[in-house]
Amino acid sequence: MTDQIQDKFKYIPDRISGLVELAYNLWWSWHPEARMLFKMLDRATWKISIHNPVKTLHEVDKKILNETVRDQKFLRHYDAVMARFKSDMITNGGWFSHNISDPNILPIAYFSAEYGLHHSLPFYAGGLGFLAGDFIKECSDLKVPLVAVGFMYPGGYLKQRIKPDGWQVSESEILDRENAPIYRIFDSKGNRLVVKVPFIDPPIYVEVWKVQVGKVSLYLMDTDIDVNDPWNRDISDRLYSGGQELRLRQEIILGIGGAQVLNTLGIKHSVLHLNEGHPAFAILERIRERVESGMKYQDALDQVKATTVFTTHTPVPAGHDVFPFPLMEKYFSAYWPVLGLDRDTFFNLGINPEAPNAGFNMTAFALRMSSYHNGVSKKHGEVAKRMWKSLWPDIPEEKTPIDYITNGIHVPTWIEPKVQFLFNKYLGYNWLADHDDRDIWKLIYDIPDEELWNIHSWLKMKLIINIRERARRRWHNDKADTQIIIASGVLLDPNILTLGFARRFATYKRATLILHNIERLRNMLNDLRRPVQIIFAGKAHPDDNPGKQLLQQIFNAAKDPSFGGRIVFVEDYDEQLAQYLVHGVDIWLNNPLPPLEASGTSGMKASLNGVPQLSILDGWWLEGFNGKNGWGFGGSADNSENRNVADSDALYTLLENEIIPTYYRVDDAGVPRDWVKVMKEAIESTSPLFSARRMVKEYAIKFYQNALKSV
Ligand SMILES: *Cc1c(COP(=O)(O)O)cnc(C)c1O
Repeated sequence: MTDQIQDKFKYIPDRISGLVELAYNLWWSWHPEARMLFKMLDRATWKISIHNPVKTLHEVDKKILNETVRDQKFLRHYDAVMARFKSDMITNGGWFSHNISDPNILPIAYFSAEYGLHHSLPFYAGGLGFLAGDFIKECSDLKVPLVAVGFMYPGGYLKQRIKPDGWQVSESEILDRENAPIYRIFDSKGNRLVVKVPFIDPPIYVEVWKVQVGKVSLYLMDTDIDVNDPWNRDISDRLYSGGQELRLRQEIILGIGGAQVLNTLGIKHSVLHLNEGHPAFAILERIRERVESGMKYQDALDQVKATTVFTTHTPVPAGHDVFPFPLMEKYFSAYWPVLGLDRDTFFNLGINPEAPNAGFNMTAFALRMSSYHNGVSKKHGEVAKRMWKSLWPDIPEEKTPIDYITNGIHVPTWIEPKVQFLFNKYLGYNWLADHDDRDIWKLIYDIPDEELWNIHSWLKMKLIINIRERARRRWHNDKADTQIIIASGVLLDPNILTLGFARRFATYKRATLILHNIERLRNMLNDLRRPVQIIFAGKAHPDDNPGKQLLQQIFNAAKDPSFGGRIVFVEDYDEQLAQYLVHGVDIWLNNPLPPLEASGTSGMKASLNGVPQLSILDGWWLEGFNGKNGWGFGGSADNSENRNVADSDALYTLLENEIIPTYYRVDDAGVPRDWVKVMKEAIESTSPLFSARRMVKEYAIKFYQNALKSV
């Protein structure tokens, strides 16, 4: 916390001044009791701020603040939360120091192009960002000494709007820096910290901001500052935008600028962990530092390699960044001499042997320059081995040294508070502290069916009320057409089996698969006794027209009276809407084209809250599905034209023969016992395994521990 921030909140009475530090530490986002504190301060302000503590502190009536100091109930709650917060922020102890290493080692530096932390910080596009966000939250919980680096995308929040014809348009919403839980870093003279990115000419500067994520500091770079040339100001405006050159400049800033930011802050690191290839140039800075202090290039390379971890996330060849050599030459011709390399030796570091003329491949580069690398599920590990085997031509494919660590979700972030309280009651108060212990979860079967079912029904109602309110506002504020309002979900019925499908509208995720046989679907949705409804949400990348076309097909179906209002599209999928959906629908639908879903994580979020999967056997679900905890289909590797027919047939058949009958088979008390059994199986079998806790421990045991021996 900086003095500048403290000064801004001088009006907060001393007795409760800890609220400022709490508001600027995202620790509140995964501790419901801390969020409750801000809500208790003033419910209306909290609601209007869309659950943003910084905005709440700015906007709450000063009179309320002064009265709060005499409110004993509030003060008791405040003291309890602050005590917990302080004890969690102590760096000593914790899993890492007991199992891996002295916590006072130089930190691990984690670099990622995106972070999904909370909807008030829109620095993400999708799964990769949430993985990074969940990863650093878990590092805080396990007391892994780690510092994170990324971009602040000040114009990065693209608000999704669907036009009446179903076409997605994006409205750029400028980040309100003053009201977000982030703050500027100042230098010792009290000036805003601005760092020059080395080796780029004309120069580019970044201003440094910080997000405190529990014990982990996340430093974000902002290029939208006065000293930059106008055409450089919006380099970090938006995620993955523009052409190749802009993209290369972004990645130079992320890797090379990011390393320079850490240097300027005096933060030395022991191990570098690259989340995907975008920040891989950070490796070059680690080598340069060593060469400039007198080490031979080869020795520097060996040392850097032995302390670098690289996680690849993309099973699609086109998803990897490849920069043409002339472009690389333009930006790196001053760089390779400093390392003592010539042009060809430098370019060879990034060549993919399967396409040597394509250019400098960031994944090939990162794989060559790191000793520890992994895919993000068992299946993706195999796919990555096949994709990159030519980097190790002397080794048979199955021995290719790419390991896998299956993704997981940060349980405290994604568990719904009411479900958490239910688990407190039946799994014991300490369950959250030991949530990767599989034995604890066996106690799930002690929960009475009615109790779990009632909570689920309440969460489903909450979701539907939220969706209807969004639609109502659209009706009132935008005077939108009635058809649009119906497509937005006003006819949703809480008593009907509800499928949820929400994710980026990338084409391989096949959002329209369930529309494949319109007649069969219509019959299912409109069945009078056992109807079904489907809620869709998700954004297409602004440049992805095929993705937008899929979205348009869904939206047109949602508007079509023949589907009876049972298909719904909810605009502007973000972290908050994701929370409502994974807590409140009955079943989570996922039907990507295998093997393109490297892992997938939204299904893990649903399963944790008792929402079973109905998913293609791909990514994490190949490991997660046990025959009882949800439904799986279409795992074959067939990529023929008939694939969509076969997969949609399998999907309809499962729905008609198993899922719909099980859901509607209720006893005299109105509880669908067999369905609740699947819910419990889902929670019990997936929660401990697909947790970020299990995942971070695996990274620490497999990679960090060994890499630290080479420091
Ligand atoms: C979890 C999450 C994702 C990633 O979901 P996938 O199933 O991996 O596609 C994307 N967006 C949001 C808002 C999320 O919460």
